[in-house]
Amino acid sequence: MRSQPIKDFARSLHLDACGIAPIPLDGRVDTNAICPLASGQGPERFEPDRLLPECRSIIVILFPYYTADDPDSNLSMYCRCTDYHLIVPAYLDRIAAFLQNTYPGCSSRCVVDTSPLSDRWLAYKAGLGFFGDNGCFINKKYGSYCFIGSILTTLPFDPDEPITDHCLHCGACAAACPGHCLENGTYSYEYCKSYLTQKKGDLTPQEIAVIKKTPLVFGCDECQRVCPHNNGIATTPLPEFRQHRLTRIIPDDIESLTNKEFRQTYGNRAFSWRGKKILLRNISYTTAIKDT
Ligand code: SF4
Ligand code: SF4
Repeated sequence: MRSQPIKDFARSLHLDACGIAPIPLDGRVDTNAICPLASGQGPERFEPDRLLPECRSIIVILFPYYTADDPDSNLSMYCRCTDYHLIVPAYLDRIAAFLQNTYPGCSSRCVVDTSPLSDRWLAYKAGLGFFGDNGCFINKKYGSYCFIGSILTTLPFDPDEPITDHCLHCGACAAACPGHCLENGTYSYEYCKSYLTQKKGDLTPQEIAVIKKTPLVFGCDECQRVCPHNNGIATTPLPEFRQHRLTRIIPDDIESLTNKEFRQTYGNRAFSWRGKKILLRNISYTTAIKDT
């Protein structure tokens, strides 16, 4: 079944990275420990039937979010705009409605990264890019600064083929990683700054030392920032990622807010989901390193 009508519709929404992943997905369950923040941990990462019985193919779409470098930012690139969990589903719903109108009787289910499925594997199988040694999914046009959204469907669209481009294996990401998480070609999450800035509870001195190494108070972009595949990439064509940007957060912005006020003010930001206390904790570590 031809996928071109779907791809044309996606393109009309400025989504020009759209592909079809096949069923079955043929994914391999990772034997390394998976970050506890990931929603899927085992075979469910490759079993779309659990979410949509009789799923026959998956439409996968990249949502690029790179705008430009913000030199004085202390937030990871992905959380400087409105939370993508509010933006991506709205686009997916429009595409799902198009499917419903064009192919009455079909069923579909939209997923962003809150489902157990491996979004990156879906994007790989849909021919949208390749994996870097930094564990990121890399698209030739938009680099690794992309969110991934998918629509599971009972329609049997012809699948796309994975592409043959690959990571340069230059080692820049491993050398830049503050947590030394990318040794020997594998990723280990335990000292990943992105994970640690979201981890609740008391951190060990070693964990705090990792957070202190770079200025970001939420997330970490080092392994993407240095990657040559991100040189000269296209900026996002999506207006939602250009508007209402917030590149820096300081204690004065949040210290006096109650938790409810914090949620009201920042609840539409991806950095707010772990709460104000974690953010202030992270800020205290990065401020301390600046002041010494
Ligand atoms: S920095 Fe080099 S090794 Fe790391 S993902 Fe990019 S190209 Fe691959
Ligand atoms: S996000 Fe940061 S800490 Fe995590 S692997 Fe990449 S460079 Fe290392």
